[in-house]
Amino acid sequence: MTTIEVKRINRSKVYQMIYEKRSISKQELAQELHMGLTTVTQNLKALEEDGWIHRTGYYESTGGRKAQAIEIVSNARTAIGAFILRRSILLVALNLYGDVIAKKTVAEPFSATEAYFQFLGKEIMRFANHVESNPDRISGVGIAIQGILSPDRSKIQYGKLLQHTGLNTADLTRYIPYPCFTEHDSKAAAFAEIWNQSQLSDAVVFLLNKNLGSALVIHGEVHQGKSMHSGTIEHMCIVPDGKPCYCGGKGCLETYCSAESLQNQIQGNSFEAFFQSVREHDPSSNAIWEAYLSKMAAAIRNVNTVMDSDVILSGFLVPYLTTEDLEFLKQKITSLPFFAERDIHIQLGKHGEFAPAIGAALPFVRRTIDEI
Ligand SMILES: [Zn+2]
Repeated sequence: MTTIEVKRINRSKVYQMIYEKRSISKQELAQELHMGLTTVTQNLKALEEDGWIHRTGYYESTGGRKAQAIEIVSNARTAIGAFILRRSILLVALNLYGDVIAKKTVAEPFSATEAYFQFLGKEIMRFANHVESNPDRISGVGIAIQGILSPDRSKIQYGKLLQHTGLNTADLTRYIPYPCFTEHDSKAAAFAEIWNQSQLSDAVVFLLNKNLGSALVIHGEVHQGKSMHSGTIEHMCIVPDGKPCYCGGKGCLETYCSAESLQNQIQGNSFEAFFQSVREHDPSSNAIWEAYLSKMAAAIRNVNTVMDSDVILSGFLVPYLTTEDLEFLKQKITSLPFFAERDIHIQLGKHGEFAPAIGAALPFVRRTIDEI
């Protein structure tokens, strides 16, 4: 290794350790990294001059001089995420820890037109500029969209919902003056939910949105599959010859467990009102909700025969779910003898409807940290 490489690695190691520990002293850094105090001091000076770290105060003295607390500058870069939906655009801004520092919903129906692409670019720029006035500190824009991308991400190869099959992703990002990345909404949501869960190896993620989505996480990575179709559990047939699905099939999970299918059953009621009546044990609302959870349980069982792992529920409906619902789901899953002994852990996602936007932005957060 050349001296320059060694220097770069040391700088990265010092930064990564501060990042991981959130707050650390120079002495602790030297100990943790088995690095000489002089080398640590040099790296801290350089990182501080470049604006990546700062000193935030002093630790309580344990005798002798008080040690300074060192932290990363979490807003040194901002990543932007956008989730394109049929009727709206959800925007988020993330700091270097992947925390949401701003979010916004813009009501604008999607259309694969030049006017829409321009509107999207303008809205993203306006939002980014509001959060971070220095454009050099915007690391990139991640776009989550319904539809399966081509393996090289240049095209939407299946986009029945937004009727955008064949759309070039470059068209979508033409008016966005930052590095861009496009991802399938469910896969982006899965990435958001596993961020900060380094102990999680495998999981099945369901995105409980207006239209259902899902993704598989294997060895901590979102599985794309041979033709990017991995984990599209929404089109798993759950009722042979059941309700027609937009995909052309019948009885898909989508037709029973998407928020839209639930909306159709609650007949004009808001989700707030519906879930309130569920919690008040209204018999007809309870019946609808239990039927929903039972179909979900059937899907989880089916998936579990292929991949035995934990389950994460993410997306729009998650804020309405309770531990009681999770218990009901578990009971349903284990009600068949073959599944009785399984300990399938079901986790509720943390980001609600913004999960895809967050997940699309996170690769820029990771890239920034990796490149320091
Ligand atoms: Zn389908």
